Amino acid sequence: DGSVLRRQEGSFDKLLGGLLVDGFDEKSCHSRYQSSMYRRNPGRKPSPYLVSKLRRQEALQRRCSPGTAAYSTALEQLRSDNRSVTGSPECKYLVSISYNGLGNRILAAAAAFLYTLLTDRVLLIDPNNEMDELFCEPFPNTTWLLPPGFPLNYFSFSIDTPESYGNMLKNKVVRTDVASDAPVYAYIHLNYDATQDDKLFFCDEDQRLLQNIPWLVMRTDNYIVPGLLLDRGYHEESARLFPEPDTVFHHLGRCYDAYLATAQHRVGIQVRVFGGQPNSPALLEQITKCTQKHGVLPERLSGTEPVVPGPSRKSIAVLVTSLKSWYSEKLKSMYWEHAAATGEAVSVHQPSHEEFQQFGSKSHDAKAWAEIYLLSLTDTLVTTAWSTFGYVAQGLGDLRPWVMYRPENNSVVPDPPCGQDVSMDPCFHSPPIYDCRLKNVADTGNIVPQVKHCIDRSWGLKLE
Ligand code: GDP
Repeated sequence: DGSVLRRQEGSFDKLLGGLLVDGFDEKSCHSRYQSSMYRRNPGRKPSPYLVSKLRRQEALQRRCSPGTAAYSTALEQLRSDNRSVTGSPECKYLVSISYNGLGNRILAAAAAFLYTLLTDRVLLIDPNNEMDELFCEPFPNTTWLLPPGFPLNYFSFSIDTPESYGNMLKNKVVRTDVASDAPVYAYIHLNYDATQDDKLFFCDEDQRLLQNIPWLVMRTDNYIVPGLLLDRGYHEESARLFPEPDTVFHHLGRCYDAYLATAQHRVGIQVRVFGGQPNSPALLEQITKCTQKHGVLPERLSGTEPVVPGPSRKSIAVLVTSLKSWYSEKLKSMYWEHAAATGEAVSVHQPSHEEFQQFGSKSHDAKAWAEIYLLSLTDTLVTTAWSTFGYVAQGLGDLRPWVMYRPENNSVVPDPPCGQDVSMDPCFHSPPIYDCRLKNVADTGNIVPQVKHCIDRSWGLKLE
């Protein structure tokens, strides 16, 4: 097996082709340099340009991050809310607010990171919701965590905040058509309820204006990356960073790493259910139909036929992740009671069943992270539509999953039950429906070739 071989030879690439930098204290985060050992699929190679850009970003973070004189000056400007107080011209900041489930938080952080790479800003992550505990520090000799005492009370920022970019445009506090003084900060509201004005953020002329604002505070639980490529401004830089467009999250996601567990499972099935829902026989049927139709799991014998052991009886380990245990128990007993028609041995495992989604629980989040990670180590992945939990797993693992379509009616199995995703990159759930060039409502899946609609959400956008 490849991973064992790589481990024995010690030839695995612990720096993931330059995504990670050498020189961190290994004890500060074991998973950082060990993650390459767990993966059979070594993942895609980052471009040399991305690697050099990451090194430049690390240097920028060191020059401008909390603790530096530049940071104090910039903070002073923010406190006084006055452009005439001199800031730090070379240090502009993006503060990314962390909220919602773990998958959402990871996608939002990765998208914020890409935005800082494209705009030469310093990334500061809101440490709430255990972001400080669940992730390793990505930047050596500095911190990416926003320290306590930040003057803006961003917890309360919402669609109504007067300093949101959308509201400032609407109220003509800032204008793209005539020169206007840029404020010291803007709140970027890209939540699911963002307005058309908020989403003008994705247009080049608005990006030019935003470049003059030293502090941006962004709230999103979405993977906004496809939106950043709808207008042309970032195309060239993004193509240099990511010659393969759909690897954006794959590379950025792998810059951070988790506390992991080791496993050699091959098939991952992510069953995203919500705490209050009853167990659904229709969803179980959708799982079996999907996996058997596409050869992910073997058909079962109906009863009396003898098992004919083939020349190479494979064993299939199935990793199920879900808040509930009912689905994996049913799958387990199916393959226990009726051997697989192919003679393959199927074993089913589920690491945890937390029953309900919890907020602010460290051990709950750590289990979720470990399970996302384990899913990413599988060879074939089956996911549930609309779930950022599954998106993170597919992106880290370089996997195009079988996505189980969202049923219109919970008691009816969708036909077909699932389809293979067009790329591994996550779906942007609430994209703009606006063409920046035509200044008109438009089908944003048709504007640029690398941004297409998602298979699990017809109006969503993803990179291909
Ligand atoms: P999404 O809501 O499906 O987009 O995914 P998120 O990860 O953002 O939020 C779902 C949260 O519910 C996770 O972060 C976990 O806290 C919890 N959760 C959902 N499904 C699972 C699961 O299969 N295993 C574990 N351990 N937690 C889960």
